[in-house]
Amino acid sequence: MIEARDTVPARIIDGKAVARQIEEEVAAEISRLGFRPGLVAIRVGNDPASEVYVRSKAKKAEELGLRGEQRIFPESMSERDLLEQVRALNADGEVDGILVQLPLPRQIDARKVIDAIDPAKDVDGFHPVNVGYLHLGRAALLPCTPAGVMRLIESTGVTIEGMHAVVIGRSDIVGKPQAALLLQRNATVTICHSRTPDLGAITRQADILVAAVGKPLMVNRQMVKKDAVVIDVGMNRVDASFGAKLAHDPEKSRVLATKGSVLVGDVDYERVRDVASWITPVPGGVGPMTIAMLMRNTVTAAKRRRG
Ligand code: NAP
Repeated sequence: MIEARDTVPARIIDGKAVARQIEEEVAAEISRLGFRPGLVAIRVGNDPASEVYVRSKAKKAEELGLRGEQRIFPESMSERDLLEQVRALNADGEVDGILVQLPLPRQIDARKVIDAIDPAKDVDGFHPVNVGYLHLGRAALLPCTPAGVMRLIESTGVTIEGMHAVVIGRSDIVGKPQAALLLQRNATVTICHSRTPDLGAITRQADILVAAVGKPLMVNRQMVKKDAVVIDVGMNRVDASFGAKLAHDPEKSRVLATKGSVLVGDVDYERVRDVASWITPVPGGVGPMTIAMLMRNTVTAAKRRRG
């Protein structure tokens, strides 16, 4: 049953449009550089999601005028051989950005691999040197997803300074860097996680709410303050067993019925958009920003290294 609305729905933050704008900026910047920055994306093994990500990153790089290359290695690759590859790319003057798609097979310690990447080429922004710079508020290659979220918030025109920003999730790739970036912009920041009691009592105080949990529809309408800006980083594929929980969402129910599964965020979009002022959809919100910011980082890395 479709519920009656008694409020004005939130404005939708169009991640595809903002990403396109960044990509245009990046392409224009590349054409002014006089050389093509190089991005190498490494994949080890055959994880289907990683296959899609690495291919789309290399493809987007080429599309924007970068030199994008994917290097694919077998699941059985040793840690030593991968470290050797990374060192060779560090030494290659034509390579400006190196990314190693995670997760890696179990015989390889991802931390060792990340630590081996030259911080000046660490376009994922995961190297401890870049993480340190970020927390010190110094120029760094920023992790792509949280940097993309900042651009989405900026696109609303909402003033970040002085706002109470609540980040749900404290992972190294999203939650923690997100909180650091919001703090840098003078928001008052609260980080919540799985041990936070009475999550709703905290999220209800948020002027800006970023959900980066990985739990489908966890953020419900009661957890959101009126007129909050809501950013949904979560990407969860759910199947028919989730059908009843999506019955109120005609679009998701339609996709689920036709495809057998559907992508949903951490936020109950259909209900939360009645209280929020701005909201990101899933898909089409944060997702497109990640690759765009990776391209941005590659150009930044190239300019710093070669400029
Ligand atoms: P993660 O490493 O699994 O971290 C999840 C975080 O959520 C953890 O800090 C965890 O707390 C917290 N959490 C779990 N259950 C909770 C609960 N009931 N209440 C409050 N906090 C809870 O995940 P991630 O890598 O940050 O990714 C989060 C989501 O974003 C996933 O859906 C992922 O697919 C998506 N994502 C999307 C993009 C994109 O481009 N759109 C990029 C990256 C990630 P603890 O630390 O206490 O365990």
